[in-house]
Formats: sequence, structure tokens, C-alpha cells
Amino acid sequence: MAYLYETHLHTCLTSGCASARGRDYIAYYLDAGYSGIVVTDHFFRGNCLVDRNLPWREWVKEFCRGFEDAQEEGARRGLDVFFGWEETFEGDDYLVYGLDKEWLLEHPEARHWTRRAQYRAVQAAGGCVVHAHPFRQHNYIREVCLAPRLIDAVEVANAGNREQYYDVLALRYAEKLGLPISAGSDIHHIDQVEAGDLYGVYLQEKPKNASGFAAMIKGIRDTADLKIGEGRLESREDETIRIPLKILNENERPISRNFWDFLERG
Ligand SMILES: [Zn+2]
Ligand SMILES: [Zn+2]
Repeated sequence: MAYLYETHLHTCLTSGCASARGRDYIAYYLDAGYSGIVVTDHFFRGNCLVDRNLPWREWVKEFCRGFEDAQEEGARRGLDVFFGWEETFEGDDYLVYGLDKEWLLEHPEARHWTRRAQYRAVQAAGGCVVHAHPFRQHNYIREVCLAPRLIDAVEVANAGNREQYYDVLALRYAEKLGLPISAGSDIHHIDQVEAGDLYGVYLQEKPKNASGFAAMIKGIRDTADLKIGEGRLESREDETIRIPLKILNENERPISRNFWDFLERG
């Protein structure tokens, strides 16, 4: 028996681009057969509604409102709700799992993290950093930026990706690097649930908490453990990068290598 979890979800109390409250999702996800969701609202440098001028502890309390609203309703109806967030750098976005409000309250430096600092701190705290939709090429993204040494896993299927080949490239990237994989809906609005366009991961056990969830994500290596759209990861051989690509080493310095060459020799 496997348990289905949403890995990528936004609420309108915290994310500027979402229209659903955390609590609004609960009944829909239960109906869709999920055991739980992770709330991953946009963090300090992302499209976050919380005033960045607030003192850190106040900022964290406000930031957690979207999650807490979902958690309260989830507890009432029997859906696991875990805390996470999504931070953005130069168009490259990362989902962070496994830490909680108490941890954040004690770590004001999190708002200024570099990718390297993020990876190290999250790793030290037993969490997990997942590169979200690494090959998305929307007009608000100027370049594809990869930091393969500063992530634990790759989101290889994202229901919010407009083009299927973004996901095909992400899977190829994860496989070349031997990294764990994940899939998520990147949901912002209820109409996406109504359309049945939900992604997620199948876990063999129910994680006890956010840190258990993070540990289990690091163990996913088979696309059979992902809930994704039909044929979503099938290559059609038209996958290519149409905007500049930057690959960073473990010190966040660019490595100048052609993408295909990089994928071949990684
Ligand atoms: Zn958003
Ligand atoms: Zn997102």
C-alpha cells in the first residue's frame, strides 16, 4: 500500500499569486485520494505577501499563516499537512522540506541564504532541497540556472509547467546526476484540482512529520513512484533549451559547458 502526497502547493494567505486558502484544499485532496500535502508558499525573495520590513520573528509568524490554516483543517478532517517553502534565486526555485516554524524563528539568516548556504543549513538540519521545475522557460525566467551540487533532488514533473519537454529535460538531468526525483502540482487555485490536474509522490509509509517526509523524498528514484499526467515523461525528441543556460559548481561559480555535453559527462 502506498500513500499519496502533494509536494508543491501555494496558499493565498502567504503567496501573492495564489487564490485558494490552505483550508480550501483539504476536502479536495481527501477526495482525490491523498494522504497529505506539503504547503510550500513563496519564501522571502519570492512572491510572498508578508512585509519584508517586519522583524524576523513577526515575519515568520505571518509567513506560517497559510500553512497553519491548512494544518488546522487537515487535522480536523484527517489529511496530513507538512510545512515547507519555495525560495527563488535568479529564476531558479527550490523547495525546502523538513524544517519547521520553530527552526525558522531561530534562523533569521535564512532570508539571506545563498544556494550554498541554503543547501548546507538544510542538510545539517536533516531537511531536503529540491530544485523545482529546473527547465521551465517562461518569460519571467531569463535563464535556466542549475546548481547540481547544491540540491538533494529534482522535481522532474510539475503540473504547472506549460511544456512537457521541461519535465523530460528535468528527468534526464536527474538521471544523469543520479539524484532522487519528485513530482508536484505547483497548485495555486482550486480550479486545478477540479480539472484533475494533480501530481504528487507515492510513499511506502506515512511520514510522521516534515522531517520524515524530507527523508523519504531523498529515497525516490523510480518514476513509478510519481503521480503524473499520462505520458508526461515520454521523450518526443524536441527537448531543447531556448534561453541561456548557467551551471553552477558547489561554490556557485559558473561552469562553462554546453548543456548536452554537461548531460553526457555530468
Ligand atoms: Zn506562485
Ligand atoms: Zn511553486
